[in-house]
Amino acid sequence: MSFESFGDGWKFSGASSSSAAWSLCDTRQGQELLEIRYATVNNTPEQDAICEKCRFHGKLDNTETAIESLNVYPFGGESSILRNMTLRGKLLEVRMDIKPGKGEVIRDLELEELFFPGEFAKAEIIRSVPEPGQKWQLEELPLTGEVLYESSQPFAVLLLTTGDNMQIELGSGGDWWRMHGAGDTFWSIKRTDDGITVRRRVVAIAAEEAVERRPWRFNYYVAWGKKTQMRMLVAPGDTVITPDLLRAAQSECFQAPAVRKQLRKSVRQQQENSGNVQMILPDVKSCDDAGHLERPGKKQLRHWDLDELFALYSWANRTLGENRIFTIELPETSIFRNLPSGRYLANPPTAAMVRES
Ligand SMILES: [Zn+2]
Repeated sequence: MSFESFGDGWKFSGASSSSAAWSLCDTRQGQELLEIRYATVNNTPEQDAICEKCRFHGKLDNTETAIESLNVYPFGGESSILRNMTLRGKLLEVRMDIKPGKGEVIRDLELEELFFPGEFAKAEIIRSVPEPGQKWQLEELPLTGEVLYESSQPFAVLLLTTGDNMQIELGSGGDWWRMHGAGDTFWSIKRTDDGITVRRRVVAIAAEEAVERRPWRFNYYVAWGKKTQMRMLVAPGDTVITPDLLRAAQSECFQAPAVRKQLRKSVRQQQENSGNVQMILPDVKSCDDAGHLERPGKKQLRHWDLDELFALYSWANRTLGENRIFTIELPETSIFRNLPSGRYLANPPTAAMVRES
């Protein structure tokens, strides 16, 4: 028996082909939006691993599904790849935990190839998470030639737009420091007639180099939708809140524990009220304070806080309960406001459920 997640105009399932592990489809257009292919650990493809667990869970309010999948290599020390994926509306978040087998080390790790099928009219990139206080830069990649991006450095966000204004956005997780991996890393975005392929070799440590035995964790998200999607407007009876984070929590980093607490407190104060709640927040930002990540022993670790807003949006909509909608407005000047991720935050939650496929 196999399962799939589905929602408003999309479905996500384990792919039946041998080249891809997971597939996201636009069910209205009957088109595939994304293929998540396989990872490679120490040069051994994930296809050689055995699926020990693959569980789909739906939330009771039918706005979120979670998938847990564990693939274990059936030889050596049994290295493993654990994925926790959540789908809410038109947002997929992926967390990967890669564990070396007993007595083994990870010298080489390539995350799944991501393949975006189809023809794109525009490709844009945010190359890097900026220095704290600096501006985000979204720049266009010329769609000539095969190689759109090739670097030892990760990129922060890739935005693809089709001729009929369908957009798909790939973003690194908030823990930007993790994305730098180790050794001779390699990131690329390539274009062919069939679509666009992203490669992410995050660990590549030469045989003669000493290597620490450690697990690795990587996060990324994919958001999609029409560029022309409307925003939800404030109606009479709705509440608009504009928390003063600097005053209340001495920080504007959404990852900071004091800020998280303050934002949730503002939402809880609305529980007695009725109507929808819109929260107006400052722009997504980068921050180096390792204290926000509760990693003692480190002072500086660069992170950015968009995925913390995904968490807040989900939590607040559950907390306010049925028939009340929580949305987040980013400033007019924010690049993210006009990306699929920002439109996701500014609109009501939509369905996400699990069914037998
Ligand atoms: Zn921070």
